[in-house]
Amino acid sequence: MPRDGWETLRAGITDHRHGKLGMVARCIACNGEVYITTAQGRPLFAHYQGSDTRCPWYSGKNMHPNDARAAQYHGQQESEAHRRMCELIAELCGLDERCEGTKVDEYRAPTENEYGRYPDVLVNWRVFGQFAVEYQMSHTFQTEVSQRCIHYEREGIPLLWVLSSFDPARVPQAVSDVVHRHRGNAFVLDQAAVAESRRLQTLVLTCFMSNGEGYDEPILIRFDALKFPDSRRPFVEDRLIMPLLDQIAARRLPYFEALKDWDHHSNRLPIDELTSFKNRLHVDRLIAAAFSIMETAAGRPQNFASDHENIKGMINTYQNTGSLAPYAKLLMTLIENTSQRALLEDTVGSNLRRTISGQGKFADVEQVSEISPEWQLLRRLLPEALDPFERQRLKEAGALPEWAI
Ligand SMILES: [Zn+2]
Repeated sequence: MPRDGWETLRAGITDHRHGKLGMVARCIACNGEVYITTAQGRPLFAHYQGSDTRCPWYSGKNMHPNDARAAQYHGQQESEAHRRMCELIAELCGLDERCEGTKVDEYRAPTENEYGRYPDVLVNWRVFGQFAVEYQMSHTFQTEVSQRCIHYEREGIPLLWVLSSFDPARVPQAVSDVVHRHRGNAFVLDQAAVAESRRLQTLVLTCFMSNGEGYDEPILIRFDALKFPDSRRPFVEDRLIMPLLDQIAARRLPYFEALKDWDHHSNRLPIDELTSFKNRLHVDRLIAAAFSIMETAAGRPQNFASDHENIKGMINTYQNTGSLAPYAKLLMTLIENTSQRALLEDTVGSNLRRTISGQGKFADVEQVSEISPEWQLLRRLLPEALDPFERQRLKEAGALPEWAI
């Protein structure tokens, strides 16, 4: 799995543990919950505290994050340097005439129950409102990163993680976790950023952007030129989600091309990767049906699979004639995860359910499973709806397309 893939898992698992709907990973031996830790830069699963110690893969008591944190703050020295940097950030923000006030390490009560936080720097901007900055000097633990991200997201306050330094050639996991939360953008307050902040009379940061393999040459960026997504964690350019969406679109392109002039039966879709399927017509039809569902869900009503006026007529007919019968469960899962899910409360739903339960003439029809090549193929082509992991990843970034909501 590429780094941004397992980092999404790592973030999702930790977020779930802290009360946000995310992901759960379990040990295959004891079924206890596990999280992702790293050793020498490699991701590993580890049991959470309180797991079954009889599990053959249990590897001892975990350090409580508070103890680990204390062990890492070598006395006061670091916290003093940290404090000075936070004051510098507050001072630079204060240069901007829109700045209505700054607070360093002061308690901020939450708007709803739960606990408040001590943001490193809390800035109040005219019009824009509150803005939190966390300054990361040493390792900030993933649990802490997660808790803060969830907290500020819930409070609707933008959160910017600023790094004390950044070496693109050597990025420790704790830093990478923070960069991941900013869509592959690393923000640093270095000498150049401080000088430019004073010149422009506002907060300017140095930003390194991931390019998949390493990082581009850094640029200087004003805080008010950043993009603020729903997650409230700003970025200059989205270097994680946009490339992912581009990849998905590229995978689908040859299928769209082939479906455009498909006559619904005789010509097989001219796509190499389909040649290994046994019942080609049914697989072609399945793809045509799935793409039609996606397009209709996206507000572009389309039926690539038959002459019926809409997908409802098409799905009902193919369920009754049996050509899409083995895919009833797959189609149901797809529809469930799109804006067309209301179809399942209609005849489409009752037809699909009848086929799945093997009633009447469908008694001999076996449903394809999630590991069947057909399901795998559609999962790769329509991951927004059929790949739970990619779906979660897009949801997390506020980038799940409307059709798959
Ligand atoms: Zn276990």
